[in-house]
Amino acid sequence: MSTAVTPDLPAEVDLRTAPGVLEGARDLELTPERCDLPYWFDHVAGGMLRQLRDGTIPDPEPTAAVLTPGPLREALVTEFAFRHLAEAKATRALTQLVFHAPDEACLEFFSTQLIDEARHARAFRDHLLRLGVPAGELAATVRKYAAEDGAAVLDPLEKFGLGVLDTGDFHGGVLVLTVLVEGVLAPAAELSERKWRRFDPAAALIERAANVDEIRHLAVGSAVIRRLLTEQPGQRQRLLDVLGRGHELWQRLPMADLLLRRETLFQQGLAEHAALAEGYQVWPDRLLLDTTAQERMAAAELWSHETQQSRLAYMLLAEGDAA
Ligand code: FE
Ligand code: FE
Repeated sequence: MSTAVTPDLPAEVDLRTAPGVLEGARDLELTPERCDLPYWFDHVAGGMLRQLRDGTIPDPEPTAAVLTPGPLREALVTEFAFRHLAEAKATRALTQLVFHAPDEACLEFFSTQLIDEARHARAFRDHLLRLGVPAGELAATVRKYAAEDGAAVLDPLEKFGLGVLDTGDFHGGVLVLTVLVEGVLAPAAELSERKWRRFDPAAALIERAANVDEIRHLAVGSAVIRRLLTEQPGQRQRLLDVLGRGHELWQRLPMADLLLRRETLFQQGLAEHAALAEGYQVWPDRLLLDTTAQERMAAAELWSHETQQSRLAYMLLAEGDAA
């Protein structure tokens, strides 16, 4: 076991120093030129992922609270099965961003994002094994817990994103992925990281590592849009139209129902295993034990709204910006 990580590991990919989603997803600036293949090999594979492999970041165990049947375990399995499906879909959709990449820098960056999403899909799925789901039942478990939600929420998003990319609109595709998919899901993942920390620190670590990647995806995706609109401001209306259609779609998706079911199960589990969450603040000055399902949903929604607004402003797509 070694604690010596490459000394020049940039803060944004160092699991000990990387910002949380709420700061990083709003402010961090990264470009596709910076996050090219050598960056990924040196700092992600040889940096962050090495920290997980070599014990720099200890690998904790899930607690008995999620290993034994009950609503808390149910909430975790439901959430991770859904995340597996979402990440697998993102991986497949990224093939089209790679295909339509307009230059070498975007080709390399989105290739790394494709691998990141495939890694996430595997991490969420493999955690189910750690929770005691037999390997032979993995696919059936994912189907049982997440297929319906996936069909209701993920399939329409996928159809929309691929429809934009089908027209060869690379930047429209980046916008859909960055604002409408990752911009919404990343703050939810931040909530997840915080919620599970006491009950399943291993699950929280998976979220943490995935969130460090998501910050990079959000930052580079928005830099790509910002550059296009700086060089070709005439493209702005077209991208705003894509965004408008995407927001309309979101209004129709039953995401609130899904989150309410998820948080309600968690709430039951929280009551059952309250001792484990004693004194734990889910965000500053707020004890997890004092929160309700609705309050956590509202917090994640606010975070996602704020993240979207600051990213849209950075991309030159904020409402007040002149065309
Ligand atoms: Fe991901
Ligand atoms: Fe991502």
